[in-house]
Amino acid sequence: MILETNALSYDYGSGEKLQFPDLKVAAGEKIALVGASGSGKSTFLNLLSGVLPVQAGSIRLLGQSYKDLSPLQLDKIRADHIGIIFQSLNLIPYLTGFENAVLGLEFSRTRRAKIDDVTYKTTSLGHQLGLTSNILNKRPNELSVGQQQRIAVIRAILGGPELILADEPTSALDPSATEKFISELNSSVESSSQAIIVISHNPKIIPWFDRVIRIGRE
Ligand code: ADP
Ligand code: MG
Repeated sequence: MILETNALSYDYGSGEKLQFPDLKVAAGEKIALVGASGSGKSTFLNLLSGVLPVQAGSIRLLGQSYKDLSPLQLDKIRADHIGIIFQSLNLIPYLTGFENAVLGLEFSRTRRAKIDDVTYKTTSLGHQLGLTSNILNKRPNELSVGQQQRIAVIRAILGGPELILADEPTSALDPSATEKFISELNSSVESSSQAIIVISHNPKIIPWFDRVIRIGRE
């Protein structure tokens, strides 16, 4: 099992306690996480990625419970085994697309070791996602939002982390671009040792996934 959660909940202390469904994610699974705005989707993702602390319940990644890990160990686990595409993308403005794309490898020897030729792998993933070498050499402010999202995808998947998490990666795209992006994202994580969880409030993405998890009241 790549990921397993049990009785997970989170309390910001200012509203209702958020409660999350138990999740069991096996290798090769593609999961859509849907729910209304404010239902707790981003909170759930931030718990899964170790950004928020586990207050109640448990999260296991590759068998290891987050609660048993020191902050340093959790950082290492995250760098080695999780690729994240944040809603805000978090690209570094003074780095080129290529430099942003390979950033995840700088923090993980495990992920770096899975790639023979980083330049070749990065540019070929870029080409697969419609980014030419010329585009990869530009800085984020010279790229369209769609191109920036594709850079964020490459950064998340390079070096084959077992779990890919994406928070509303299509929110800035129109409906036809959304379908294309989701199908590209899914085909770029075709490896049977990986799993992907994509958060969205857009029900149109559901057919692209093996399974749908709903958060909050419908
Ligand atoms: P979604 O991603 O589904 O829109 P969120 O996880 O962002 O939902 O938010 C779930 C609930 O938690 C909302 O009611 C939101 O206002 C609240 N919330 C989110 N982040 C914080 C925070 N940092 N402090 C206090 N409340 C928060
Ligand atoms: Mg959100």
